[in-house]
Amino acid sequence: MGDATIPLIDLRHAALKAVVPSVLTPANGLLTDRLGRPLRDLRISVTDRCNFRCSYCMPKEVFDSQYKFLPQSSLLSFEEITRTAAVFAAHGVQKIRLTGGEPLLRKHLEVLVGMLAQLRTPQGQAMDLTLTTNASVLTRKAKALQEAGLQRITISLDALDDAIFRRMNDVDFPVADVLAGIEAAAKAGLAPIKVNMVVKRGVNDHEILPMARFFREHFGTAVVLRFIEYMDVGNTNGWAMDHVVPSHEVRRRIEEHHPLVALEANAEGETAQRWAYADGRGELGFISSVTQAFCGDCNRARLSTEGRLYLCLFANQGYDLRPLLREEQASDEQLAAAIAGIWSQRTDRYSELRGQNAAPALAGARKVEMHYIGG
Ligand code: SF4
Repeated sequence: MGDATIPLIDLRHAALKAVVPSVLTPANGLLTDRLGRPLRDLRISVTDRCNFRCSYCMPKEVFDSQYKFLPQSSLLSFEEITRTAAVFAAHGVQKIRLTGGEPLLRKHLEVLVGMLAQLRTPQGQAMDLTLTTNASVLTRKAKALQEAGLQRITISLDALDDAIFRRMNDVDFPVADVLAGIEAAAKAGLAPIKVNMVVKRGVNDHEILPMARFFREHFGTAVVLRFIEYMDVGNTNGWAMDHVVPSHEVRRRIEEHHPLVALEANAEGETAQRWAYADGRGELGFISSVTQAFCGDCNRARLSTEGRLYLCLFANQGYDLRPLLREEQASDEQLAAAIAGIWSQRTDRYSELRGQNAAPALAGARKVEMHYIGG
């Protein structure tokens, strides 16, 4: 993959302590940040470990056998995760995405799914419960996850060509096993199934059309294939703009063979621009964080696997909620007030600033690693 990986400076310890304000305002589901954005989407990282070493996320040279992953004792328990998620639901969260690292490496994850499936929004709605996985163990887990209450799923697959994919995941993992995982998810009734492909120029961009054709022909409307612009997440992937294939170019390459029509967004804050094949053979998505930033309606918060709240994928520090959950034995009202205090001061819009060459990272600020807070 060629890029010089950059040594890691461990930011996991650079967290501010979450403070309970003196006045406890009850959660009413209407919380907004300084840019008027509500809190609707919570991404929960349940492990910082992964069995892949994708160079744009966890390059093997950095995350090698010496790398110290978090000890089990520092991870939030399923009870702590569920309690915290319930407080976020009271603040207006309607969608929960389980991430990692690779979330299916966390033992008995279906138990957590079952606990989160009991949560309700202030309006009494069930949570929109989903998960992002590399599908390496999905054939074994899909049915149990669906029975526990998982509704839909997102699977990462960066190439159809086995040699390219094995090189990109850097652990020699075959495409066939990921496709088997997708079949198992479809058989288990998880829907919709989304497949995410990170496109990197000179690495897998020639796989755009083969991927589009394959999913169009083999899965049709059962799978939504989404193309993600290669992003400067974390500090170790050696990102450069000339490795980015802008979404408009990806779309043009497909449209030369298959006419597309634009679709409306499913919900406010949706990250993908939706397009469909004009002949009805399925849907595509384009996630364009680099060339068309979508910070304006970003309603996503991220909870790290040890209880740190991050307000942006490119944040350079988090807020530690774990002492409130453990040592300080805070009440739900106090936890809710602490989270409200953090979100209400949020001004994050990294991708917009990157677009204006004004992003903090450009001035040397280091960013949290994606495997630690989930994509
Ligand atoms: S860059 Fe940050 S603020 Fe912007 S869309 Fe992504 S997570 Fe949201």
